[in-house]
Amino acid sequence: MVNLHGGQLIGGEQSSEGTQHFQAFDPNANLAFETKFYEATVNEVDRALSLAHAAHLEFAATNFEARATFLERIAGRIEQSRDDLIELCVGETAYPQMRVLGEFHRTVEQTRMFAKMLREGSWVDAKIDRGQAERKPVRKPDIRSMLHSLGPVVVFGASNFPLAISVAGTDTTTAFAAGCPVVVKAHPAHPGTCEFIGQIICELIRELSLPPGVFSLLQGGEHELGVSLVTHELTAAVAFTGSLSGGRALHDIAKSRPRPIPFYAEMGSVNPVVVMPKAIEKSCHEIATGFVHSVNLGVGQFCTSPGMLLVPKSELGDRLIDTVKKQVETASNGVMLSRGIHDAYLERLDVLRHDKSVTLYNDLEGQSIRGGNEVPCVIAVVDATTLDQNSVAMQELFGPCSILVRCDGMGEIIRVIEFLGGQLTATVHGTDEDLATCHELLDCLRQKVGRLVFNGFPTGVEVCHAMHHGGPFPAASDPHFTSIGTDAIKRFVRPVCYQDSPQWMLPVELQDENQRGILRLVDGVYTRDAI
Ligand code: NAP
Repeated sequence: MVNLHGGQLIGGEQSSEGTQHFQAFDPNANLAFETKFYEATVNEVDRALSLAHAAHLEFAATNFEARATFLERIAGRIEQSRDDLIELCVGETAYPQMRVLGEFHRTVEQTRMFAKMLREGSWVDAKIDRGQAERKPVRKPDIRSMLHSLGPVVVFGASNFPLAISVAGTDTTTAFAAGCPVVVKAHPAHPGTCEFIGQIICELIRELSLPPGVFSLLQGGEHELGVSLVTHELTAAVAFTGSLSGGRALHDIAKSRPRPIPFYAEMGSVNPVVVMPKAIEKSCHEIATGFVHSVNLGVGQFCTSPGMLLVPKSELGDRLIDTVKKQVETASNGVMLSRGIHDAYLERLDVLRHDKSVTLYNDLEGQSIRGGNEVPCVIAVVDATTLDQNSVAMQELFGPCSILVRCDGMGEIIRVIEFLGGQLTATVHGTDEDLATCHELLDCLRQKVGRLVFNGFPTGVEVCHAMHHGGPFPAASDPHFTSIGTDAIKRFVRPVCYQDSPQWMLPVELQDENQRGILRLVDGVYTRDAI
């Protein structure tokens, strides 16, 4: 049974000090739900972060087994609450049930994956360089290092992944795994889903007798809350998923604090897809079908949605464009997550509509829109010669629209790619014969992206060890880090080096014995052996 109170969850206690409130909306009808959610006050922000700070050292000192159990219990309790959670989430997002179910499973599985990674233990990246007392001309000290938790992490839940990148999503789970307490800012488009999961985490913290400040959830629909979380002196790091404007504003605030802190933002991407001639010859229909499916998936509300298709300016290219047009005409309309995202999509379409160099297909005109936040899947066609780096086509258009760019040869494809900023992904469709001719293109793409996809589509991010979901700015604020996959934990830890420490004072992972059997770099050689 879902029982929402609409206040904050601070260290396991309900709190509703604020006087201002907001409501969630049913995106299908654009009607407000009953529950009133209270804007967190500055005092509540301070309480959440003070408790998080107080809990940090005790939580960081819990052994990996205890934290792995915590994560597994979160996964298990979410699984038990499946039906209520899915109903609530579908109501607040208008995502089809299957879409939410898929994300539900991903959330549960990724949480268990982090528990497994914790138990295995090698993620601490232990390095040991043994001392040499007799080294000349100076003695070599004993140096050992490993990763330790940073401190309280503030997480901004994403609008488009209400489960997998939200209250119990990758950011929170990796911070917990690292031993960092978490304060989540719920996304105002689905506050009920956030509160429901927040209640589950608070219950488990009580049951496992963890320090209460390990988790807090704050609600708000005004920018002030986000700003006070990022500026609070006890915040040690921030994870954000959302718009370039929001991410950039908060990043700049984090970096201009008296004590700047790491700010990890995943902000957006055009995700170009290049199609080579032989691939069209071989698989025109499959590419067109897969492409339109990927563009329209989740009503285009994926940061990996393919926003640009680069095709040859030739008979073959035109064949692909025609096939894409036919597919788009049969694509179903979808309902967007919030009024703000819906309006932003229509505004961007309007800009394209008024651009004489662009032709839109399956545009709003002639569509029977049922109301709410419903929108069609749209394709724009443009000639590469009309584009430059300031063109609208070069920025992410969040929603089910993609721009087909007709390019005269490889030189023009590379020219357009060079106009783009950093990207989460780029995709190339090509036969082996095609690919053998595009080394220059691949070099150019590698400079731009976090992930290169061959003969597939960028939507559907596998959660695994090798995944890199990030990229150069503006895809992410720091190209070194991923927000998905096990390496996401690296955002919330930092290396500490011990010089000539007595054995008994070292963390167990750095002691000679290697009690936990983890993989360590000892004198330059990876080994699980004891010293
Ligand atoms: P958003 O507007 O960037 O909001 C994300 C979070 O940041 C919200 O909690 C928002 O809360 C807060 N926020 C935004 N701007 C802020 C500011 N200047 N100062 C303080 N807090 C701020 O993103 P969204 O609501 O998810 O969707 C809007 C747009 O984001 C979309 O149209 C799309 O372009 C983009 N988007 C991109 C991705 C991606 O994965 N790349 C995902 C989702 C959305 P408040 O509004 O309560 O302040």
